[in-house]
Amino acid sequence: MTVNVDVQTFPHFINGKWEQSSGGETFEVYNPATGELVAKVAKGTEKDVDIAVKAARAAFDKGGWKTMNPKERAKVLYAISYKIAEHAQELAYLEAISSGGTVRRIGNSDILQMVDLFQTLANFTVEYSFSETLPVPPFPGPAHNFIWREPIGVCAAITPWNLPMVIATWKIAPALAMGNTIVIKPASYTPLSTLKLAEIISEVVPPGVINVVTGGGAEVGEALVNHPQVDKVAFTGSTEIGRRIMGLAAGTIKNTTLELGGKSPNILLEDADLNIALPGSLFGVFLHSGQLCESGTRLFVPDKLYDQVVAGLVALAGKLKLGNPLDPATDVGPVISKKQKETILSYIESGKQEGATLVCGGKDVTVPGCEQGHFIEPTIFTNVTNDMKIAQEEIFGPVLCVIRYSDLDEAIQMANDTIYGLAAGVWTRDVNKAYQVARKLQAGVVWINDWHMLRSDAPFGGYKQSGIGRELGKHSLDAYTQVKHVHTSMSPELDRRNWYGILFGQN
Ligand code: NDP
Repeated sequence: MTVNVDVQTFPHFINGKWEQSSGGETFEVYNPATGELVAKVAKGTEKDVDIAVKAARAAFDKGGWKTMNPKERAKVLYAISYKIAEHAQELAYLEAISSGGTVRRIGNSDILQMVDLFQTLANFTVEYSFSETLPVPPFPGPAHNFIWREPIGVCAAITPWNLPMVIATWKIAPALAMGNTIVIKPASYTPLSTLKLAEIISEVVPPGVINVVTGGGAEVGEALVNHPQVDKVAFTGSTEIGRRIMGLAAGTIKNTTLELGGKSPNILLEDADLNIALPGSLFGVFLHSGQLCESGTRLFVPDKLYDQVVAGLVALAGKLKLGNPLDPATDVGPVISKKQKETILSYIESGKQEGATLVCGGKDVTVPGCEQGHFIEPTIFTNVTNDMKIAQEEIFGPVLCVIRYSDLDEAIQMANDTIYGLAAGVWTRDVNKAYQVARKLQAGVVWINDWHMLRSDAPFGGYKQSGIGRELGKHSLDAYTQVKHVHTSMSPELDRRNWYGILFGQN
């Protein structure tokens, strides 16, 4: 594979240029599959954040981006989509060597999703109702009234390590479409692909419209959330940090979108087509080593099918090939870090302690050629009860909990018995029954006979503690605008303004 960038050092990307950290320090990025050092990246400071925010502020306040005709901005979004396609190989490489995502997934899914999102939102932008005229009202008096949708201003995006580019795109595309400017803080494990993405986007947008400051969450992330010139924060990551960001954003009453954790229930009905439901359920939980917020981590299986389903799952999971994410033959790559591996292993230990039965995987493994990598076998627990820690807490690793049920209402009740509500699924041949179950599931997305199928034109986000707000689709455009009501009086004569009498009486 050809790589056109020096992966050794990456400064910040601010105002259309590469900029060193004001503190002069860097941090290191390692390949989770091999343990190799792949890059040194600028360690951001509060000052760097201030410089980036001021660049974004100037581009918003004084540049022509927000006042550009939406049709022209839509053309720029298309140009970005072509740039992404043009640089697909390089972006996929940078993502794979830092996130551990397989090139098979990044190339066949992530890049296509990104291209599709920019194009879809470009089309929506052309049709978007930036101005709506209201009918002349009978009350309080004759007037012309408009509702204008305007960009919010400078947006901050704080993104996680699991899908760095895709999740950054979920924020960049709607922010830019609506005329905002943006400063992104990528996760410290995976800043490379976001930096490259910003560089290629900057080839077609004015300087300052897109900026990236790298560095730690506590320093760079919090400085962004606290900055008085940042108008909106969009965060994806853990519920714990989401809570903290929401608290900090309260200081300046910032518009906040949060996409947080999940513990998504997957309900198999007795009439499910197991030929699809079994690989589909494993696709739902083991893709990207289980490091996806909407993974189907709790599988509810009826008594009647339990043994057959477990045997089928174990047989299929055993075929998954762990390996270097750069190898197109690899099914499952590493987890992000040694720390994350240890967290996952401690959850596996807790499952055993609480009495669940380990029927598949459960160990870390050494992959030939990737001896320093952080690999965990796809793991399946049976005899899990919904109150166990492994069934309640987000593990963010390749661990499936199989939970038995005898009655569908009981399964739905257990499915909803969680603080989370990001995704859910149901497998059945009976579509009407599927809709009845979907209606009762407390989740922002419900898949029927499928998993992980997100669309650029459909909203994504969580119920309950899985988040606030929606990304993707038209809903995401609304989330990057604010609403202004403009009233123009149609009563030129004072004596027709009888409402003034509320103050002046008959005088
Ligand atoms: P975090 O929520 O800690 O990190 C997500 C992003 O927030 C990163 O860019 C991180 O920066 C940043 N951040 C961290 N602390 C702060 C802060 N105080 N203020 C502002 N930004 C901050 O996730 P982790 O990477 O620590 O993963 C922990 C767990 O979170 C996982 O095991 C998983 O359960 C869950 N998770 C969920 C994701 C989802 O998509 N819902 C995605 C990733 C993780 P930095 O990288 O520099 O720490």
